Amino acid sequence: MLTAAVIARKRDGEALTADEWRDLVADVARGAVPDYQVAALLMAVVFRGLTPDELDALTDAMCASGSRLSFGPGTPPRVDKHSTGGIGDKTSLILAPLVASCGLAVPMISGRGLGHTGGTLDKLEAIPGFRTALTLDEARAQVERIGCVMLGQTADIAPADRHLYALRDATGTVESIPLIAASIMSKKLAEDLQGLVLDVKAGSGAFLPDPERGLMLARTMIALGAARGCPTVARITAMDRPLGHACGNALETEEALLALRGEWPDDLRDVTLCLGAEMLMAGGAADTEAQALDRLADALVSGAAADRCRDLIAAQGGNPAVVDDPAGLPQAAETDVWAAPREGIVTAVEPRTIGQGIIALGGGRRRMEDTVDPAVGFVITAKPGQRVERGEPLATIHARDAAGLAVGRQALDAAITIGDEPPLEILPLLGVRVTLEGTVEDGRGR
Ligand code: URA
Repeated sequence: MLTAAVIARKRDGEALTADEWRDLVADVARGAVPDYQVAALLMAVVFRGLTPDELDALTDAMCASGSRLSFGPGTPPRVDKHSTGGIGDKTSLILAPLVASCGLAVPMISGRGLGHTGGTLDKLEAIPGFRTALTLDEARAQVERIGCVMLGQTADIAPADRHLYALRDATGTVESIPLIAASIMSKKLAEDLQGLVLDVKAGSGAFLPDPERGLMLARTMIALGAARGCPTVARITAMDRPLGHACGNALETEEALLALRGEWPDDLRDVTLCLGAEMLMAGGAADTEAQALDRLADALVSGAAADRCRDLIAAQGGNPAVVDDPAGLPQAAETDVWAAPREGIVTAVEPRTIGQGIIALGGGRRRMEDTVDPAVGFVITAKPGQRVERGEPLATIHARDAAGLAVGRQALDAAITIGDEPPLEILPLLGVRVTLEGTVEDGRGR
């Protein structure tokens, strides 16, 4: 039982002991603490932060609240990639089969949409029949057979995070460096990895928009991973506009499947290949970035990555034919084009507004238990800095009905702005590379 006195100590800026965090997390995992007390403590953490010792204790307790995957000695090196969350971010769907087709194993535990952001599980479940609720034994066996699995957090894996994640989503307590770090790392440390690549988003669509705070989050997670035998590297990438064109579950899945054939928007390609190269280097499948990029290109061109994606989908109950014909994915009943209301330069494609628009269309959750409509969303080709003509088509709305089209139109009216001058700042698509040793500027791409 969490006492009011413990909450009050945290509220007043005191550090709780490792034993207190361990008992507290164990109680949360078995449902023994009322939500109002947990929510109050989470809010105290948002305002007061955690000391490094508290963060260690919280992360270890969250990880220990459940079971972990473990693999036999014959399994290839295991690597994974995790994004801190954004709009249009479908790189996981491409990377799991792509990296597995390069000889590494990818046991990927993903989440659902949180706040305004989309979630990999919702995108996967847009594939008819695709099962993400696998047991740990099923996940292990699938990795040993085909080299990759994409599953949701089971009741077994970091169950405390499952509960905390839902409460944070409902109580405005997502935006905290220690809470995000403990949440992500408690799941990733349960995957028995040799290397982890973090895609830490910066910009207005990220949970932590300020790149400096993103950097702090990256350093925090890297230190947690390193101290627990999981070498971790991070890339800071832009989320001041959506990634790629498709935003919405089935639309993003389609864009990811087309990417496996080499048909992808430049920004999605650049971010995916950068993260994929980091994964290959982390797993020892390449010594340099250039070598890694060659291997990834070979796997795409030879069709090995698409083959592995078919295997992955079939293994998890979905219809692998969608890889060749994405028209088998759910389709919205209504579509309409959004055209530039004036000529000029696109000054913003505001990702948070797009994310909220997807939720308003029924494609995201207001509450954790809501079901999502996989077919709805937007395909937005406009990018900040682009010169456009009046009447030029810049986006398509995918909705259930005419009312949905109006909702989608309103979201795009608010999200896409056009002016006379270029935007003052566009974040570099690929920002710094962060390791335990320090940071290196990349600065590639816009
Ligand atoms: N992703 C997670 O798994 N947890 C967070 O807190 C934020 C993003």
